[in-house]
Amino acid sequence: MLSLEIGELLLQLGRGMLAEREGDRLTSAQWFAILFFSRANVFSRTLSGLAAYQATTRGTASQTIKSLVQRGYLVRKKSPYDGRSSILSPTEKARMRMAADPLASVFNDIDALSPHKQELLRDILRQLVGQLGGEARRQAVGSCRDCIFLLIRRLKAQEGIQVNFFCKCIGMPVNEKDLELLCTSFQAKTGAASHWTGGKRDEEES
Ligand code: SF4
Repeated sequence: MLSLEIGELLLQLGRGMLAEREGDRLTSAQWFAILFFSRANVFSRTLSGLAAYQATTRGTASQTIKSLVQRGYLVRKKSPYDGRSSILSPTEKARMRMAADPLASVFNDIDALSPHKQELLRDILRQLVGQLGGEARRQAVGSCRDCIFLLIRRLKAQEGIQVNFFCKCIGMPVNEKDLELLCTSFQAKTGAASHWTGGKRDEEES
């Protein structure tokens, strides 16, 4: 059965990707966490964000974070958005670790696929991740560029048109440079595979 074969290949790929980086003295959970905090936006780089990403309890995520802070991979700062929580950011050591990641070759292989194939693959995998976990569905992460909550405002300015980005879920402006980062509040637009430039999205003009 083709579906079984695809499922087995996904398992083999996941296991193989983790095996690529064995021997670096990081557990899989720690490595996943560094990857997440290196790629996530400021709203998601929290204890709850990691717990949602790894589909684990807050206690387990807290242990992983604690060990990474102690080993100098993460720094903790008070959140400017919520006084009760902290924002975790990768240190230079974490960035260097990610830059030398043996999995970079896998990402390069994906990058060699056509944009259409990459989008298709991402959308299928996102759908499969979103269906895991039964009633407690796993949240598939994504970025602003194809999220239903992104509002684009085009304002007439002296120098021409000024484009601003706003998140309707979080109720905060989003920097243009952060549009590609992972977000745990992400909600895919239905029928996703829309190109950044071609897809229809919520826009305002004033
Ligand atoms: S627009 Fe979507 S992906 Fe971007 S910050 Fe808001 S919820 Fe997250």
